[in-house]
Amino acid sequence: MSLFSAVELAPRDPILGLNEAFNADSRPTKVNLGVGVYFNEGGKIPLLRAVREAEQARVAAEQPRGYLPIEGIAAYNTAAQTLLLGQSSPLIAEGRVVTAEALGGTGALKIGADFLKRLKPAAKVAISDPSWENHRALFEGAGFEVVSYPYYDGATHGVNFAAMLDALNGYPAGTVVVLHACCHNPTGVDLGEAQWKQIVEVVKARGLVPFLDIAYQGFGDSIEADALAVRLFAAAEVNTFVASSFSKSFSLYGERVGALSIITDTKEEAARVLSQLKRVIRTNYSNPPTHGASIVASILNTPALRATWEQELAEMRDRIRAMRNGLVERLKAAGVDRDFGFVNAQRGMFSYSGLTAAQVDRLREEFGIYAVSTGRICVAALNTRNIDVVANAIAHVIK
Ligand code: PMP
Repeated sequence: MSLFSAVELAPRDPILGLNEAFNADSRPTKVNLGVGVYFNEGGKIPLLRAVREAEQARVAAEQPRGYLPIEGIAAYNTAAQTLLLGQSSPLIAEGRVVTAEALGGTGALKIGADFLKRLKPAAKVAISDPSWENHRALFEGAGFEVVSYPYYDGATHGVNFAAMLDALNGYPAGTVVVLHACCHNPTGVDLGEAQWKQIVEVVKARGLVPFLDIAYQGFGDSIEADALAVRLFAAAEVNTFVASSFSKSFSLYGERVGALSIITDTKEEAARVLSQLKRVIRTNYSNPPTHGASIVASILNTPALRATWEQELAEMRDRIRAMRNGLVERLKAAGVDRDFGFVNAQRGMFSYSGLTAAQVDRLREEFGIYAVSTGRICVAALNTRNIDVVANAIAHVIK
């Protein structure tokens, strides 16, 4: 009898399953809108010029690959904080922000969750309905009970803000509230400034613990504007967790570059929090990898590379916008009555398109166009060669 005879086969990851089906499809006009990756006009994951230059300099310098400190590269952590809170952040100047390099945004969420579990063992974690599919499993895996707060309203293609506030107002103090800082995944629907201010007020008044997930900074409106939520919590002096991911903004998916930042009340408190966070990291993977973070640090800290990166980031953002516009226009031109204007108001790579599961099935079966059954499409997978095919297929299945 094997040790593993009772091990059940875990369900397949739905999005990876979709990729496998896409790869096996032999139709030349197939399009994969299921993925969560930015593709350029050529349908490829870009290698940014800023990244290429920073990598060449790194290779030329022939640096040895010793262990990093447990919390990662100092220049990287400072740059990540500054990106979140701005150049003139008083909290950074006062030494009140703890930042540790992490294995992507996922790794940042995980070390934050493990630390929070030690700090608040009985707390519940609240995530948006819907949310990034890994949020629930990740926090449950860290030992938390996970609940959902209302977020998306299919009828208006907006946020059911009153219901969201109601839910937050009903949570006991200490509840961890996971918030998408910008470019909500999967819906593309974000809160406005006035709404964020109300959220900050409720979180502060009720003693909730905000955990902001920022995986698309710069993909919405701008680097600065996309950090609004983080900066509002900081200005309100709320103890806040922030998980940053640079997977998309630097197109460095496989290098696993992210950071966890925690806003504390004093410099002395920050030192204690960092010491505990380091224990969490040490017992998980000891210390983080060198390559991705050193590339990001040199881009963010070298003015010429940074200017190149900011331009490339703007190009990615503008291309996604153009594809949103293009899709809306083409659907109209194809005679679709339904107003798809809401797609233009959404932010980031994704769109909750309003397509039903049955329509998504038809797109796949009849046209080789792959999307998530919830109707989420990755707008960043559209380009000028496939957008007509996609728009005509959508027009066909919704008529
Ligand atoms: N949070 C959200 C909302 C995401 O969409 C993603 C990536 N799909 C992540 C976190 C994880 O990012 P990473 O790949 O850097 O771990």
